[in-house]
Amino acid sequence: MPELPEVEVTRRSFAERIAGATIEGVRLGKPLRWPLGCEPSVLLGRRVSSVHRRGKYLLVHLDHGCLLLHLGMSGSLQFAPTLPAPGVHDHFEMQTDRGVLRLHDPRRFGAVVHVPSLDDARARKLLDGLGVEPLEPGFDPVAFHRSLAKRRASIKQVLLAGDIVVGVGNIYASEALFLAGIRPTARADRISRPRAARLHRAIIDVLQRALALGGSTLRDFSSAQGESGYFQLDAMVYDRAGQPCRVCATPVRAIRQGQRSTFFCPLCQRP
Ligand SMILES: [Zn+2]
Repeated sequence: MPELPEVEVTRRSFAERIAGATIEGVRLGKPLRWPLGCEPSVLLGRRVSSVHRRGKYLLVHLDHGCLLLHLGMSGSLQFAPTLPAPGVHDHFEMQTDRGVLRLHDPRRFGAVVHVPSLDDARARKLLDGLGVEPLEPGFDPVAFHRSLAKRRASIKQVLLAGDIVVGVGNIYASEALFLAGIRPTARADRISRPRAARLHRAIIDVLQRALALGGSTLRDFSSAQGESGYFQLDAMVYDRAGQPCRVCATPVRAIRQGQRSTFFCPLCQRP
């Protein structure tokens, strides 16, 4: 599943190239998670001004309105001067005078939603509940600790909920908790300020490392062939159940938390 680093790398792969492009055609495939919200013809002649990201949403700002784009579980975006004929899993395509933007999404949990502005009720419903951006200055260790102190749920589930800090999905939550030495089952409100500060740092580190890795695959994202290329860290614990911890050699344990797999080292990560 594309997480924040993949979405950000996707953004960087086409944001500059598409800025200034004029939309000449829109083709819809099978229904995605949410409807587009306008007749495709409404988009014709609109100009793309910029592409930003909020959480896992890409905001394609137009001269009038905005497209909110989400990659869902299996989506990938391509932007290229020309593309081969669309396949069965290509469900959104926007032809511009600078190239074609195409969403490939076999599982169709992704979405492209047009809103007249970000104050629109549909935009607010999708964006308002999002926590702070982990890679921006607003993500502050003291405020992070204060927010955790109000939650009795396990720290892993609080991170995944995304309303304190966005973009820390399953892989990155597991990895950051390992780096911080915190057991994923620990109650959020019982994490001390120094430990919260360590976790804060670990979240930034793990996301920045993934971004750096993703940067090296940028060419794949933007190539005419458009390999989607989700990248993964050389994980410390994620998906390593039963294998020796890379620090202490204790076998990594796997448990289920909120229907998601969680991996941790029982020795390195204190409850
Ligand atoms: Zn260990």
